Amino acid sequence: MTQTHDTPALEIHGLSKRFALREGTLTVLSEINLVVSPGECVTIVGASGCGKSTLLRLILGLDLDYRGEIRVAGKPVTGPSDDRAIVFQDHRLLPWLTAEANVAAALLNSPLGPEARAREVREHLELVGLGSFARAYPRQLSGGMAQRVAIARALVGRPRFLLLDEPLGALDALTRLRMQDELKRIVAHEGATALLVTHDVDEAVHLGNRVVVMEPHPGRIATILPVPPAARADRSSPAFVQLRD
Ligand code: ADP
Ligand code: MG
Repeated sequence: MTQTHDTPALEIHGLSKRFALREGTLTVLSEINLVVSPGECVTIVGASGCGKSTLLRLILGLDLDYRGEIRVAGKPVTGPSDDRAIVFQDHRLLPWLTAEANVAAALLNSPLGPEARAREVREHLELVGLGSFARAYPRQLSGGMAQRVAIARALVGRPRFLLLDEPLGALDALTRLRMQDELKRIVAHEGATALLVTHDVDEAVHLGNRVVVMEPHPGRIATILPVPPAARADRSSPAFVQLRD
């Protein structure tokens, strides 16, 4: 294990990404620098097209064609790995598999035996509040529930790093509000480091220890705002509580 307590969970230095198009090159990310500590939840906001999803793909190791440096837990990213998991806006569950089979599918390469796997799957479905929906198929679940299964699937392999690409973006406003608090609890419970992309500034402040603000053409970090705990959206007000419950 090369990671010590002081090793950042993520280090990005001088990262630039271009796409070769027929009509020339498109610079999508330019000189990105970002260091994330273990256990931090950093949120990213920015206009559509400013490179947020591209940045997550690079961190995941799905695209190795870039300039600069990306290190996860001190090691250069050389491809996808079980230490990083992602949740997308659409749940991407396999419709022909039950909730538990969808979650178990993420353990395909796991060294765990069948019993330990089943236990991990059960624990993670319970963690997202779906213990009693293990045998349900995706079409029998609401959008919020399906998204919770996707979160369980991402977490079941106990990744060190959780990447969330507008995970609540497709949900209705009330479900999103409830899921924001749940997501916060779940991420804290797992002790994972998280990078969450969102369109919703309130969500970014509520969930993030820091908020990265990106701007487009080319995608760059405009500023990184620390979020003091007291400044996190006050959701204890009676109106909020009433709305949520
Ligand atoms: P965001 O997630 O912030 O909305 P994306 O990272 O999806 O932005 O896209 C950033 C820019 O890169 C967009 O202009 C998009 O069209 C372009 N882009 C993304 N993927 C590719 C690709 N594979 N080939 C060419 N251009 C791409
Ligand atoms: Mg995107």
